Amino acid sequence: MSAAPPLPVMTDLTAEFYGHLAGGTLHLQQCTACGTFRHLPRYLCPSCHGDGWAWQACSGRGEVLSWTTTMRPLHPAFTDLPMTLVTVTMAEGPRVLGRLVDVAPEELRAGMPVVIAPKTVAEGLAIPEFRVAPA
Ligand SMILES: [Zn+2]
Repeated sequence: MSAAPPLPVMTDLTAEFYGHLAGGTLHLQQCTACGTFRHLPRYLCPSCHGDGWAWQACSGRGEVLSWTTTMRPLHPAFTDLPMTLVTVTMAEGPRVLGRLVDVAPEELRAGMPVVIAPKTVAEGLAIPEFRVAPA
């Protein structure tokens, strides 16, 4: 029997974020006062401090900003190694963290175009995962 992976902690805000991912689409909060997108989910806009927002479906496209590759399992559930975690600057502006799959660590480069591919990890729950964007 393999270990269960740790799952995100749910709050009212994060439950919406992960729920949209479970539907297959990245949604980010967009401020209704100034239009700024934000992530991680939060109540106030980091730009104008407005407290109004709407969840907006996003392109799911972005570019690799930075990454780290793990060669040893840091949790018994993570046995598919090496595992690369990337910080992606989404087309809408915010940065999203997730695993990058199907790319050898030596092929990674800053600015690599990627697309989000939500990975279902539990009933009604998906987490961000990225793949190289098709040319
Ligand atoms: Zn704002």
